[in-house]
Amino acid sequence: MKPLPLFPVSTVGSWPRPQELLRALRRKQQGQVTAEEFSRIADAAVLEALRCQESAGIDLVTDGEQRRDNFYSFVAEKLDGVRLMSLAEMLDVVEDKAGFERILQTLDVPAFSIQNPTCVGRISLREPLALDEYCFLRQHTNRPIKVPLPGPYLLTRAMWVKEVSRAVYPSKEDLAEDVVAVLRQEAFALRDAGVDFIQFDEPVLTELVFTQGQTRTFMCAALAARKDPAEELEFAVALINRVVAGLDGVRTGLHICRGNWSQREETLLSGSYHPLLPYLARINVQQLVLEYATPRAGELLPVTGKELGLGVVNPRTADVEAVEGIVERVREALRLLPPENIFLNPDCGFGTFSRRPMNSLEIATKKLEAMVEAATVLRREFQDTSTVRRVAGALPGNG
Ligand SMILES: [Zn+2]
Repeated sequence: MKPLPLFPVSTVGSWPRPQELLRALRRKQQGQVTAEEFSRIADAAVLEALRCQESAGIDLVTDGEQRRDNFYSFVAEKLDGVRLMSLAEMLDVVEDKAGFERILQTLDVPAFSIQNPTCVGRISLREPLALDEYCFLRQHTNRPIKVPLPGPYLLTRAMWVKEVSRAVYPSKEDLAEDVVAVLRQEAFALRDAGVDFIQFDEPVLTELVFTQGQTRTFMCAALAARKDPAEELEFAVALINRVVAGLDGVRTGLHICRGNWSQREETLLSGSYHPLLPYLARINVQQLVLEYATPRAGELLPVTGKELGLGVVNPRTADVEAVEGIVERVREALRLLPPENIFLNPDCGFGTFSRRPMNSLEIATKKLEAMVEAATVLRREFQDTSTVRRVAGALPGNG
């Protein structure tokens, strides 16, 4: 792992995609573009996303998820036994059709994004999920690299659609066995290739606690969770821990937010992370990457023994956060955590769903710059303080 400065600045993953790439993504889904042609366009987009991050001064970069249509459905291209199902196909198979449609209408859901990666056969890696993304980025930057992967609980919930999956996997627990195996295979390959940070995305965990087991988000809308959210959370904890077991030599993180599909904040879930605390404490990752720039996230979670990827800018708003405000937010976190455990990041990606970027390139870039400026202010202060602390600690009478 490459060294990082104090208060490292990172992103959660996705970055707005250029028009040419959006066209290429669409044509790829329709089989109208060759792999080489798509790679040429996507490579250029990744390099531009990298340039934006590097010139803003981001310490831990990603490839902006430019090659992915969204943060989890892209696995359909990489896994055998998985097929993208359109909204119309999903409506055909789900039992609660009225409920499914209601969710889509009330939550301002981008209908085009419902391309659910559905399990239709035994799953296995046909090609790496993200190793190719990492290798390309590594050739073009010396900075530490973060690679986001969909978490095992999210993938299991999304992929197991009873009506079409049960012929191969009678229950979602059966499917989860193979999801864990596939993610372990990928995570170890990434670690061996030298990735600095693997982030697992599990946004559905908040849905479990804020909706009392009533599915309310579009993700996994077709799927029945157990009635008891506690049981479901235990299931999620066990899956994540099995994926990361023995995965040493790479920083691991878990990103949990409340949805990032609309700029209408009122349609997104709301509530503090507190009900998740007992579960998060038992998840064996080094860092929790959480949203805190939005008031919907409530007060800071007293998370001990882990790093916090502190959300300090809202990817969905047009206003660029003031540097002093970001510094102030970090100071609040410093009441709970030592400086070396705090990373700065946006609440979520800037382009979670390719066709609905949450912000313009210009505003997204300004938000990155604001985080970097805040980190510079904090480093100046805390690097000095830690020096003073070391000196003071060496004097007799000072503990
Ligand atoms: Zn998110």
